[in-house]
Amino acid sequence: MDLSVVIPIYNEEENIQLLYDRLSAVMQGMGVSYEFMFVNDGSKDKSLALIKDLAAVKPEVKYIDFSRNFGHQIAVTAGLDRVVGDAVVIIDADLQDPPELIPDMYARMKAGFEVVYARRKKRKGESWLKLATAKWFYRILARITSVEIPVDTGDFRIIDRKVLDVLKDMPEKNKYLRGQIAWIGFRQTYIEYERQERHAGETGYTFRKMLRFALDGITGFSDFPLKIVTYFGFMVTAFAFLVAVYVLYSRFVSGNYVQGWSSLMISLLFIGGVQMIAIGIIGEYLSRMNNNVRNRPLYIIRESNVD
Ligand code: UDP
Ligand code: MG
Repeated sequence: MDLSVVIPIYNEEENIQLLYDRLSAVMQGMGVSYEFMFVNDGSKDKSLALIKDLAAVKPEVKYIDFSRNFGHQIAVTAGLDRVVGDAVVIIDADLQDPPELIPDMYARMKAGFEVVYARRKKRKGESWLKLATAKWFYRILARITSVEIPVDTGDFRIIDRKVLDVLKDMPEKNKYLRGQIAWIGFRQTYIEYERQERHAGETGYTFRKMLRFALDGITGFSDFPLKIVTYFGFMVTAFAFLVAVYVLYSRFVSGNYVQGWSSLMISLLFIGGVQMIAIGIIGEYLSRMNNNVRNRPLYIIRESNVD
């Protein structure tokens, strides 16, 4: 098998057929042997039925059906766990990532790269809030991690079997695949493209999912938030020391020490806030450690036509 394509599916009933048609045309044009791995991540619409209809007549269509919604990164991971190709493409089902780029990516890979990712020059049809938060998130992440995670890049990419085998062995439960793949190394390159609008349906990434995903990216690849809390602790302590000198001076030398309610309240609130933030940051790391220690299965499969 030359090429496997992993496609996470969450409520994509209006996109599956067109995606299949476009992907098939591309694959046939390339003249490679291929399989499509659809991972149904607890869709509430007819996605699963459509995939099974396809699988019934098309031998290259494989599917995994989750017991519930586990999230995009986990759906991709499950697909990666079961594909057999020498190379694998990860692509969204909503046609925001044009399948027609795959031959280009494949050619780049054949020219000597183990990872070819697609970098968005433009993103169409997404809210300014999403564009702005994504833009800043990737830039901040790039600054605070030691791994070079490419900016403006999703999971749309092709990876070689060598990279896939390492990826499958990485034990973390909180998946941030684009970071993990960057961390793995090998020779990586990119092509640029204009990200299209969603063909139909609506985004499965709610604000909560995006926030959790962003925190997975940060906590998985950086200790900077923990360090900044430490620096802040030192700064506040140093400042408190200066204030203490001033307080002692007022009390014993100048004798002017009755007032001070405002300064007391401000420092009280300030210290309280800083401590809460610090505990919250530690909590984010701790909850992820906890998640890994529990060691529950990453996903649960209801049915599948592969083993
Ligand atoms: N997806 C998924 N599980 C989820 C949310 C999304 O498998 O909980 C899939 C979705 O069907 C699509 C891909 O992940 O194929 C990207 O999701 P989406 O297009 O909703 O995200 P966006 O492009 O808006 O960031
Ligand atoms: Mg999308």
